[in-house]
Amino acid sequence: MYDITDYKKYFLGIYAPVDFIPVRGHLSRLYDKNGFEVIDFAGGVAVNGLGLTNEVLIDALNEQANKLWHVGNLMTNYPQLDLAKKLVESTDFDKVFLCNCGTEAVEAALKLARRHAIKTYGNQKHHIVSCYRSYHGRTLFSVSAGGQSKYWDGFEPLPGGITHVQFNSLDELEALVNHDTAAVILEPIQAEGGVIPATRAFLAKARELCDKFNCALIFDEVQTGLGRTGSLFAYQEYGIVPDIITLAKSLGGGFPIGAMLCKQLFANGFDFASHGATFGGNPLACAVANKAFDLINTNEIFSGVKDRAEVFMAKLTQINNKLNIYKEIRGKGLLIGAELNDQYKGKASQLIGIGFKHGVAVLNAGADVSRFLPALIIPFEDIEEGMKRLAAALEDFKRINS
Ligand SMILES: *Cc1c(COP(=O)(O)O)cnc(C)c1O
Repeated sequence: MYDITDYKKYFLGIYAPVDFIPVRGHLSRLYDKNGFEVIDFAGGVAVNGLGLTNEVLIDALNEQANKLWHVGNLMTNYPQLDLAKKLVESTDFDKVFLCNCGTEAVEAALKLARRHAIKTYGNQKHHIVSCYRSYHGRTLFSVSAGGQSKYWDGFEPLPGGITHVQFNSLDELEALVNHDTAAVILEPIQAEGGVIPATRAFLAKARELCDKFNCALIFDEVQTGLGRTGSLFAYQEYGIVPDIITLAKSLGGGFPIGAMLCKQLFANGFDFASHGATFGGNPLACAVANKAFDLINTNEIFSGVKDRAEVFMAKLTQINNKLNIYKEIRGKGLLIGAELNDQYKGKASQLIGIGFKHGVAVLNAGADVSRFLPALIIPFEDIEEGMKRLAAALEDFKRINS
């Protein structure tokens, strides 16, 4: 059998997996080959919205696997038609592009917006305005749009025409968006950058400026989308509708799939052969995403997320009142961030390893914030039990760092 040293032997050093190799999972509990159990507050980084396994999704995958795996975009297929119809009919958008992951959805959104602007208004209208601390994925265009230099350092020269503003600064946004702007891209809640919700005023200002200067407002909802915040999309929580939206993570309930949705006005950005993805719209991915979407897009799920979030926040706050580790606990729905006190600055990833030793998976969002993204359907008793384990982990963390 392998152990974690084999990982280091074969893989590039871009991840640092913990010393726990899961072999099976159910709802929000993971098990390794020896039966050691971990409660999953990390949710596969917001992918496992419906838990670690789901009978309906398994059946959908098996059924499709016995019929047709892949055809390519020379042909359409029924699962992708079903999915696109659902996405259009349940949202404010008119057209769909299917791909495989979040960064591909962002890449498509930026390319669509830029090409629409250039085609419609001329070459000078190509600027993209983004926010510092944002995270939009790892292709070169996506890291360049992202607002964190650690993700683009060493990869220069970067694509040009991208400028950043401070998140939630209305003044900076107002100063930068103009007739040459093709798109403003932002996360309604900056997730990877530290779980920082946008103010409604900031999103409203972005909407107003994009209307004024005929540029596309892109919301990257790869992490906040599909029920995570207690609505189908975070934009609905704010009541501000973008022109383009990107989705991935929990869209396929664990099966890789991404999507970019846009309003009709921007659809001319792509015409025949101007963009594409070999695996985009794959029948297996679409068959699973269809079911995942049906299961998530219900009031039971949305109110369940809000109920769970309340319990989660209350428990975490209670533990923190006793141990005093975090200076702020924030977020929306089941996208929760807890920022470490200054004395623990930079140590959010240390807590991950300690958590696993105590049987609970937590995530970080940058160096100073612990991030919690449990399944939307996490059983209440798993929140309870996970919090006991987290309290023990935090006590250890405190002792180690005292
Ligand atoms: C995860 C994430 C991405 C990138 O998605 P991948 O599937 O890893 O390419 C892009 N934007 C946001 C907001 C994300 O959270």
